[in-house]
Amino acid sequence: MPVRPFSRDQSWLLPPSLDELVPEDHSVRFVAAFVDSLDASAWDELGIRLAGDPLGTAAYHPRLLMAVWLHGFMSGIRSARKLERACLEQLPYMWLANCQRPDHNTLWRFYRDNRKSMRKLLKLTVRTAVKAGLVDLAVQALDGTKVSGNATGDRSYKAEGLEKLMKRVDGAIADLEAQNRTDEERGRCRLPKQLAKMKALREHVEVALAQVMAEEGPSNVNLADPDARLMKSRHGFVAGYNAQAVVSPLREGVAGASGLLITAVGVDNEPSDYARLVPMIEEAKEATITGAEVTLADAGYHSEANLEAVREKGYRVLMPDRQGGKGVGPYHRDRFVYERETDSYTCPEGKKLEFRGVTKRRDGRVIRVYHGSREDCLSCPAFGRCTKNRWHGRKLQVGVYEEVRLKHREVMESTEAKALYKLRKELVEPVFGILKEVQGATRFLLRGLANVQGEWELLATAFNLRTLWRVWRRRRPERSLLLRAAQPS
Ligand code: SF4
Repeated sequence: MPVRPFSRDQSWLLPPSLDELVPEDHSVRFVAAFVDSLDASAWDELGIRLAGDPLGTAAYHPRLLMAVWLHGFMSGIRSARKLERACLEQLPYMWLANCQRPDHNTLWRFYRDNRKSMRKLLKLTVRTAVKAGLVDLAVQALDGTKVSGNATGDRSYKAEGLEKLMKRVDGAIADLEAQNRTDEERGRCRLPKQLAKMKALREHVEVALAQVMAEEGPSNVNLADPDARLMKSRHGFVAGYNAQAVVSPLREGVAGASGLLITAVGVDNEPSDYARLVPMIEEAKEATITGAEVTLADAGYHSEANLEAVREKGYRVLMPDRQGGKGVGPYHRDRFVYERETDSYTCPEGKKLEFRGVTKRRDGRVIRVYHGSREDCLSCPAFGRCTKNRWHGRKLQVGVYEEVRLKHREVMESTEAKALYKLRKELVEPVFGILKEVQGATRFLLRGLANVQGEWELLATAFNLRTLWRVWRRRRPERSLLLRAAQPS
């Protein structure tokens, strides 16, 4: 095969246009079409002014800056400096920015000033999909994932660690001040940089110590990002956040195999999930207007209080019991039978456990306590397996919504619930996979809970745009209909 000649010095009489070089179905074209389809009322709703100031140098158009950020988050370019470079070097970004070259400061200022609009923008993508009839609201799945903050775990301290650090910093300050006095004698009166740095660190440690010592304060504080908390993730402990997402599938066949839409997101610095169940369902309901018929959640969201709350609000939620199912052992608390008339339990050996009082847990849960008889238990053949308590015999601690819990467990054992629950992983795991592996959400770039929330919302918005782009690409005749659905009603 002969080799095709080429010369870098060759010029064209009719150079190819940038438009010709960007494929017709490229994601930048969809992002541009989506952003351009938003009318003035949609921009008002987002709180972004389209008209610039009459005086001064002309500013970059918000449509341009928004499109660059959205496409950046879709493709894993999330820093202002990298986006600035992309607008200089990458053809699709050059097309998207119309060969204008916003620098990283301009890009960053736009992002910083409009972070609060990201939640509204996410809702806009959900509304677009719902109005275009793309979303299957028969089922939705809720899950959380731990995402590292912009901080390392070794800068997280408990109270004890902070006290030790404070002593070290005080020692270092004393040393530096002694050196400084010596320097003053030589005529220098400016604080050495290192001393100023140590004093700033001391203030930082003092604030962190006050936080962990507070009555309802966190157990640990990170000095780089004070809102990040040490939490267990699949890859060990990280100083980060618990990022939540509610996911609904698209109607069968509209976007190929991976048609998934994020309908609500949230970020918390509490590692446990259960407090997020009701707020996330409500947020998804607000975005989709009708809400999904069934919500699937893992055992991390299970609590008796949650079961009672969703029952009261009329939400249908399927989630496994975090205390395990029947059959966990012959003397598991589920083998004890409750008698309403006497407010007592009967154990598997036929002995009574009487009500002894209520106690309140640290998380605010009220627990009813039942005790067996010491004599019955000591003489029972199951002593040692059922209980080892020689003083009080077997003790049962039961939540106040025990009946709701048992009823929910029966529901979870039905064939329909088991079949539906199998969908949970198929819905949420690909979403977290794409967010982390493709969009680069393995760690947040910003610090502080409010900033991280905006970042997660923009990541979710970009995820939804990827899904809508896939629909847009497959359904050419209906493209304008899809984009019209983005307008506020
Ligand atoms: S140890 Fe006590 S509570 Fe347990 S089975 Fe025996 S009698 Fe019943």
